[in-house]
Amino acid sequence: MLCLNPQNAPCQNCDSCRKVANNAHPDLHIVYPVTLAAELKSTDGKLSEKGWDALAKLTARRIGNPYLQLEYSGNPVIPVELIRELNHAVVRGSIDGIASVAIVDGIDVMKKESANAMLKILEEPPEKTLFILTTERQHAVLPTIVSRSQVVRFGYLPAETIVRRLKELRPEAEDSTLAAAADFAMGSFGRALGLVDNPVEDAARTARLLWELCLMQDWHKIGRTLDSFLPSANYELCRQIFIQMMYFIRTRLFADISDASAEEIRMRRVRGCWQADKLLHICQRAVSALQSNGNMLIVCVNALMEAMEILHGEKQQSR
Ligand SMILES: [Zn+2]
Repeated sequence: MLCLNPQNAPCQNCDSCRKVANNAHPDLHIVYPVTLAAELKSTDGKLSEKGWDALAKLTARRIGNPYLQLEYSGNPVIPVELIRELNHAVVRGSIDGIASVAIVDGIDVMKKESANAMLKILEEPPEKTLFILTTERQHAVLPTIVSRSQVVRFGYLPAETIVRRLKELRPEAEDSTLAAAADFAMGSFGRALGLVDNPVEDAARTARLLWELCLMQDWHKIGRTLDSFLPSANYELCRQIFIQMMYFIRTRLFADISDASAEEIRMRRVRGCWQADKLLHICQRAVSALQSNGNMLIVCVNALMEAMEILHGEKQQSR
């Protein structure tokens, strides 16, 4: 939209394309959710100087790597100040005179105050203005926002597509690493790239093993597996194991139903979804407990026992 060579857009070479690539285009506005740690707020709860600074750095990082997976420590929000600033910028109009583009990422974490600040402009956007609102959880987006938008869905990328693109970007990586990353990425290219760049192979392998042992209810081998990593007291590894287990549960549950409608999924998969939901919840709780330095052994044993109860209960029902 911003390229100066519309016949060949994006040409990646014109003044405008280069500005976009350098996060310096005056008509491209990007807003990300942030966690407002105390040091990023001033006394009235608004963004402080330091907060604005942190935001600018985050945006630059994200533009440098569009696939960057942001990790938040705490609940991310889209502060109303950012939306107000965005409104001003958009109402002011395009500086280059071509178009204005506003990208608001993670729109699902938007609270009422920020959403209200956006509604009017979404309803009557200035000419030549495009708003792109993104989310992985449409059900969590305020209905007033959804009703003013045109929804465009993106499906899961097939693993082969992910591997092909990974090969282009990371030619030096082993094929098996790329395949494993694609397998665990739940159809998200960004997640796959993150897995290649920060290998969590040990975590992925251990997660898969623990999952299979839970299915087999083999406590003896589970104990041996726990012994292989608990003594190192590596909280990050342990956390990664549960995160990998969540990817694993999701991939297994959703891989073959990504084309189905929500209604079909409800009809066909009620029980599977219920089970997966419980399992994801168990893993999520383990991740949180590990984040607040809970006892690793107790967290792991509790989580795996609960997971087995869910899986075992299911088995008994089907018998
Ligand atoms: Zn261009």
